Amino acid sequence: MIIAIDGPAGSGKGSVCKILSSKLDLINIDTGAMYRCVALKALENNLTIDDKDKIIDISSKINIDLKEDGTILLDGVDVTKKIREKEVTMIVSPISSIVEVRKNMVDLQRKIAKGKNVIMEGRDITTVVFPDADYKFYLDASLEERAKRRFIQNQEQNIEMSYEEILDNIKKRDYNDMHKEVGALKRIDSQIYIDSTNMTIDEVVKKIEEEVGR
Ligand code: C5P
Repeated sequence: MIIAIDGPAGSGKGSVCKILSSKLDLINIDTGAMYRCVALKALENNLTIDDKDKIIDISSKINIDLKEDGTILLDGVDVTKKIREKEVTMIVSPISSIVEVRKNMVDLQRKIAKGKNVIMEGRDITTVVFPDADYKFYLDASLEERAKRRFIQNQEQNIEMSYEEILDNIKKRDYNDMHKEVGALKRIDSQIYIDSTNMTIDEVVKKIEEEVGR
């Protein structure tokens, strides 16, 4: 079984998928974390967005391990916290716009999911990675609510970013993610649309469980 969930930053995908993966016994695949690993590795190699070929090379060889407990290993090193930091968050969207990087990540995502029951979240899962998924959702929330959620999350994880910085970053990522040449975030008729602005995480989980019939 494949449950595919797309939506903008801060819409609740991560929290919801974590709960659902354990409740429904599915492998949780956070594809945003994979793009963040490429961005982190580019930063560690002192690359900028102009070093396109080198970034593509990184994405073709990258060794990412998404552990069941949510830990993310990059070349065997725990980068779970590092990939959420400001520097990565600032450059991940333009890096994920490089068409060849997307191709490499989509191949990897399909490979990781092969033969397994998965819940996969991102921006192009319902449209590109698994357009024939058993269940497809678009999770949304207002811009201000999403920035507020991310601000609280960051505080819990000691990630230094002001509310204004987060709001500005999310706005820019929304625009960039929705206007990509390939793999743009978009709403399509076959997705079940959920606006979580005034919903708790548990309410969203319940709604998805109802739709999936579990
Ligand atoms: O989900 P998260 O906010 O961690 O994703 C980080 C960035 O990775 C997004 O802003 C988007 O640019 C990119 N991304 C993507 N395609 C996906 C998942 C994430 O382009 N399937």
